[in-house]
Amino acid sequence: MASVREAFVLPSGVIYLDGNSLGALPRSALDRVRAVAGEEWGRGLIGSWVGAGWIDLPRRVGAKIAPLIGAAADEVVAADSTSVNLFKAVLAAADLNGGRSMVLTERGEFPTDTYMAAAAAAVTRGALRHRLCDEGTVAGALDADTAVMVVSHVHYRSGEVRDMAGLTAQAHAAGALVVWDLSHAAGAVRVDLGGANADFAVGCGYKYLNGGPGAPAYLYVARRHQALARSPLTGWLGHAAPFAFADSYEPAGGIARFVCGTPGVLGMSALDAALDVFAGLDGVAVERKGRALGTLFIDLVERRCAGLGLALASPRDPARRGCHVALRHAHGYPVMRALIERGVIGDFRDPDILRFGFAPLYTRYRDVARAVEVVRDVLAGESWRDPRHAARAVVT
Ligand SMILES: *Cc1c(COP(=O)(O)O)cnc(C)c1O
Repeated sequence: MASVREAFVLPSGVIYLDGNSLGALPRSALDRVRAVAGEEWGRGLIGSWVGAGWIDLPRRVGAKIAPLIGAAADEVVAADSTSVNLFKAVLAAADLNGGRSMVLTERGEFPTDTYMAAAAAAVTRGALRHRLCDEGTVAGALDADTAVMVVSHVHYRSGEVRDMAGLTAQAHAAGALVVWDLSHAAGAVRVDLGGANADFAVGCGYKYLNGGPGAPAYLYVARRHQALARSPLTGWLGHAAPFAFADSYEPAGGIARFVCGTPGVLGMSALDAALDVFAGLDGVAVERKGRALGTLFIDLVERRCAGLGLALASPRDPARRGCHVALRHAHGYPVMRALIERGVIGDFRDPDILRFGFAPLYTRYRDVARAVEVVRDVLAGESWRDPRHAARAVVT
């Protein structure tokens, strides 16, 4: 996989271990954004909606994401943000399960999943209710009133991988549908929505898919649900005939109805080109490398940083782990600031979690070894105690 690294623009002097939060810049995406802005927009103007295929981007990009998540090309669309897609998916799923009234999320999950499930319930004015289950208990809360359960495939903090097929089967046995959040999974570990008989899924375009800051997200609807699944956000571009400008809404066939409004073409084009980096890559090799990097990191941290206040907060078993590793430290925030100052870029999550992402496409084993020496230096030398590392930034 070493040659794949050449496909990225990576600044020198930096060990980038935050590809799980914002993927690095693929050269293909940089070239495409230049071409789309300069040629397609600058010269082609409005003709580029058809001439450059802008109008098809949501479905074309969705089809490119599909093989990375075990979906068919016509089951995925790129649109909106993950948060907005959660709202659409939860309400569409709840609507398919109309006799039931509860949507479940779990404490400690990425907050937007809970916020949007609660928002989806709120707009129904009581028809749908939201319950926030304690950590690790969401599947246990499934009962005869559960309409929808929302779960992440890879937990954003711990990196723990959930058993997608097992949890989906458990939900189905209870008569519930599942919305999977793939944000920390797609592009890192293998995802098999089809094999798991999944219902709905959403995910993020700017993490391991490298689509760029604020890249469009995506939405998956299993083919068997598509005839009846309705988007609650019935924007004109999800209409069967948008350019008929009809007064009444009629959903487009299939996944296309989950497009709401006009796609952000610059961002969508960057994601489209970024996905080309995955063409021809073996998902097994990608996952294996990401996990091997994480295992090397854990081994070296335990050997080189023993007694320096770090504790593993991710599963040790690589098979149960995504491609990032979380460590606890009582002074996690200033420690991460000090690491970033030394060129080792990870991130911090409250209250005490240092996250290190090992994006398989551009992270090298030697980056891991070097990063651990910097961690050791910062902790042993206590450079993190410098007061300038204490002030919280807006983005952590
Ligand atoms: C990053 C992430 C999101 C991001 O949501 P946006 O609305 O695209 O900002 C959502 N869910 C999970 C689990 C994430 O990790």
